[in-house]
Amino acid sequence: MDFAAFATAAADIEAEPSDSGVRSRVADLLGRSGEDLPTVVRFLLGRVFPAHDSRTLDVGPKLCYEAIARAAGRNVSADDVERRLAELGEVGEVAASYDFGGQQGLGAFGSGGDSLTVADVDDRLHELAAAEGAGSQDRKLDTLFGLFNRTSPEEARYLARLVLSEMRIGVGEGTVRDAVGEAFDVPVAEVERALQVSNDYGLVAARAREGGADALAELTLDVGRPVQAMLAQTGTVGDAVSGWGEVAVETKFDGARVQIHYDGESVSLYSRNMEDVTDPLPEIVATVEEAVDAPVILDGEVVAVDEDGDPLPFQQVLRRFRRKHDVAKAREDVRLRLHAFDCLHAGGEDLLEAPLVERHDRLAAAFGGEDGEPVAALRLCSDPDRIEEIESRALAAGHEGIMLKNPESAYTPGKRGQNWLKRKPDVETLDLVVTGAEWGEGRRAKLLGTFELSARTRDGYATVGNVATGITDEELETLTERLEPHARAEEGTEVDIEPAVVFEVGYEEIQSSPATDSGYALRFPRFLGVRVDKGPDDSDTLARVERLAGDDGS
Ligand code: AMP
Repeated sequence: MDFAAFATAAADIEAEPSDSGVRSRVADLLGRSGEDLPTVVRFLLGRVFPAHDSRTLDVGPKLCYEAIARAAGRNVSADDVERRLAELGEVGEVAASYDFGGQQGLGAFGSGGDSLTVADVDDRLHELAAAEGAGSQDRKLDTLFGLFNRTSPEEARYLARLVLSEMRIGVGEGTVRDAVGEAFDVPVAEVERALQVSNDYGLVAARAREGGADALAELTLDVGRPVQAMLAQTGTVGDAVSGWGEVAVETKFDGARVQIHYDGESVSLYSRNMEDVTDPLPEIVATVEEAVDAPVILDGEVVAVDEDGDPLPFQQVLRRFRRKHDVAKAREDVRLRLHAFDCLHAGGEDLLEAPLVERHDRLAAAFGGEDGEPVAALRLCSDPDRIEEIESRALAAGHEGIMLKNPESAYTPGKRGQNWLKRKPDVETLDLVVTGAEWGEGRRAKLLGTFELSARTRDGYATVGNVATGITDEELETLTERLEPHARAEEGTEVDIEPAVVFEVGYEEIQSSPATDSGYALRFPRFLGVRVDKGPDDSDTLARVERLAGDDGS
């Protein structure tokens, strides 16, 4: 495929306003990409290499501006290019604004044969990525100049964006997934699974075209080819227990994610961004090599520890991950410990679909049996008090907290699903008495709007602040009707209300405050409903507010 045809399609896609239009245009382009299909897919996503490949072009903006300037002619400098960028705002627009004398000139002489192809661009960019050592920046500049020199303005626009990983034509990974389904008539779920295991959009598109769903189903994990890490959401113990009954509780380690691949001979390690971090982490390589004797893919966290083995802040780990030179010295400065918590592949078998508990057993087996270093303990429990206990112990040991996982769940690469929850404290709601209110303004002048809340004390009530959010207009009407009969006095827009109605109120935390009678104020209070089943004598006491404030650590 000519690069000009790719550039024209990219321009059409960029100009297309609707999502479904973008998808069909991408599908159409994929359908006519011929042998360049994998490359076209990567280019659409602004990539030269598949996501699992840690190679990069390593071309900074300056080098790209320099190449554009050189192709633009003698009178143009990299500074001129930068000035134009300040005016036009985007490197593609800048590249397209120069006349590099590409295609049109050659076409005029009827040569036609020298047009730049997608494969040419791909080959040259691979060469460029491989350049290293002395003089490599000059060679990269020469290669880029050579490419720009052959481009028309439209081609230059997309070449510049590709080189700087700024394709931005409105095509995300989801669009490509759906377009592959549409172009080659395969179910999107099959495409999704194939993408998860291979982490290579180009490969998946080619397989879908060659052999449809059957060919996609044959794609499996490959030891040495990293996949995206499964991600977590925040959630409460309440969410976890009510959702799954039994919860798999693990320590949340404060370090950096690492994916471990062992092919039976050597270990390779990948960061959360799938960078190869094998060389900077020799002691993790050694830990795995010593203990594991069959091919596996594992997931875990690497934590920096002090001399007593207690965890250090995670920045220390990142320092080790980035270290390229003097690794031996770095190793003395920052000691590392592995906590492995998942197993994606073992004994020649992909385990992504297996339930977490089974994957954990396979993990323990890979390290020769029981839980214990470096295998993170997984505790099954359904009692919230016991979960709190595990959390307190994790915190006391210097860890970040706990993770709550669905014991039956599959491993879903790249997904921030509901099956792994980072524990967020459950906030207990308060049932508080309304002791005052304020008339609204404008269209709400006939409705009570803000409500003063109080907690019960030994001899009366003490205010803990006001609530005005979380209430619909309809609710304001019924609340006004309910409260008006209890109004004792009015001054301006303020109404004094006798304790009668109890609100259930949520909040983010309880802070001490000089502005209330109680000395406490709710942060971000939210109206949740009227406790019609409760009278003022059943409402929460100031003692409970005090206790919750203490529990909150505020
Ligand atoms: P966050 O970075 O706050 O989104 O939390 C998710 C991260 O916690 C994961 O990407 C892991 O790097 C890390 N983590 C620590 N311990 C665990 C664990 N037991 N299970 C899963 N992830 C963990």
